[in-house]
Amino acid sequence: AGNRDDDHIVQETSTDASTSRESASRLGYINDPFIKHFVRNPQRRAPLINRGTYARFHGVQSTLQRFASLPQASSSKNQVVVLGSGFDTSYFLLAAKNQRVARYFEIDFAEINAKKAATIYRKPALKSLLPKDTEVKCGGTELHSARYCLLSADLRCFRDQVVPKLLAGGFDCSAPTLFISECVLIYLDPKHSDAILDWITEQIPDAAILTYEQILPNDRFGRMMIENLRSRQLELRGLIAYPDLESTRSRFVSRGWKSAFAIDLFDYHQKCIDQEELARIAKIEFMDEWEEFSLLTKHYAFTFACTSDSQSSTAFVQN
Ligand code: SAM
Repeated sequence: AGNRDDDHIVQETSTDASTSRESASRLGYINDPFIKHFVRNPQRRAPLINRGTYARFHGVQSTLQRFASLPQASSSKNQVVVLGSGFDTSYFLLAAKNQRVARYFEIDFAEINAKKAATIYRKPALKSLLPKDTEVKCGGTELHSARYCLLSADLRCFRDQVVPKLLAGGFDCSAPTLFISECVLIYLDPKHSDAILDWITEQIPDAAILTYEQILPNDRFGRMMIENLRSRQLELRGLIAYPDLESTRSRFVSRGWKSAFAIDLFDYHQKCIDQEELARIAKIEFMDEWEEFSLLTKHYAFTFACTSDSQSSTAFVQN
């Protein structure tokens, strides 16, 4: 569906994400002992970026953990699907805590997955957390096991490429399923991301999705953010159709999802993180760029949507 040069450019964004995560981890904002293995050139990010990475990590990891410990009997079938997983380490973080879900799938391009799989096999800390039945497949670009699959496919060909691989990997449409997508759907043309969302509502009665993406392209900061990405030939295609909090939320409801909730990263940081945690991270680095922090974090949002009521305890923000 895409031009291979453009695909290469979007694949490189996975390095930005892992470099920021490694910076936040090394400084002690987040506890991710695995991310360092995926970062060749560590860089120290600015304090406001580290704090933003902390809030992003907090939102995703706490949702994953709630889902992995859902009280329902059906939770023994729980599945996670990470769309555009890049060098995300969440599978290893859950496995290290023994919070394994029944099935965990990661999907990205073969080029990224080849690097990820090779790193996993080189590092005992990672390899030892793979299920014992793991096999390397498709020329080193995929890992298959009953509980964890790293699958290579183009998300723009969801029904033709991704779905058959998920089903062959044991994906169960009747099981409670959490989809995670961090800074991925926004790069797709809305017709492609809508096709993913529509497949989920049609096929999975008990699904939830957590997305984390850019919003607000039209104010001064937003235009800078877009220009900055454009200079790297990156286009946030989803922003045309879904530019703000309300449109990212109502997108789900208007496409048949039962409920949807959206919050920007600034409000998430202010309202959803314990005071104790905020006091702890405040000691790590001095941050006086509060105005820039609020500008930056107002331009990123989490959306949490469900196809039924049954994942209310996964619900993104606990009241
Ligand atoms: N979610 C990861 C994280 O937060 O660390 C990676 C985020 S990175 C910004 C975006 C990822 O989406 C890249 O790894 C890229 O290769 C992947 N991606 C983008 N478009 C894709 C497509 N059409 N098919 C498969 N993967 C895609």
